[in-house]
Amino acid sequence: MTEPELPDGAAPDRPPGRAPDPECLFCRIVAGTIPATRVHEDEAVIAIRDIAPRAPTHVLFLSREHIPSAADLTPADGPMLGDLFGAAAAFARAEGLTEAGYRMVTNIGAWGGQTVAHLHVHLLGGRSMSWPPG
Ligand code: 5GP
Ligand code: ZN
Repeated sequence: MTEPELPDGAAPDRPPGRAPDPECLFCRIVAGTIPATRVHEDEAVIAIRDIAPRAPTHVLFLSREHIPSAADLTPADGPMLGDLFGAAAAFARAEGLTEAGYRMVTNIGAWGGQTVAHLHVHLLGGRSMSWPPG
């Protein structure tokens, strides 16, 4: 029996609709067609310096896959998220941020403050953070 055809970008354990989006800024950064300062990359994740840093250290951890936001994650994304948070923890340790502490945050949709619709987790460090965020 032949396997059913999957839409572009889909894998058997992944929801459809995650093909690179040529209109998406972070897909273009992942592809290397828009430059960015990369501080980490592996199979599932890349990390770049934010172009408009809001703290002395401000790095974005992006999924390589085009996932619009954390609202689109599924249990199958567990390994990618483990990789992402593990890479961020290693980066923070290497930058000497761990002892003082730092923040990781992902914005979702308009009211969440999301401006780029491609999953990314901000790592902010090097200064004290207030709570709750504005
Ligand atoms: P969001 O607002 O979606 O949570 O975060 C998007 C982040 O991407 C912002 O902090 C913004 O400064 C950053 N950003 C926007 N355009 C670029 C770019 O071209 N290059 C880099 N490195 N960061 C960008
Ligand atoms: Zn994208």
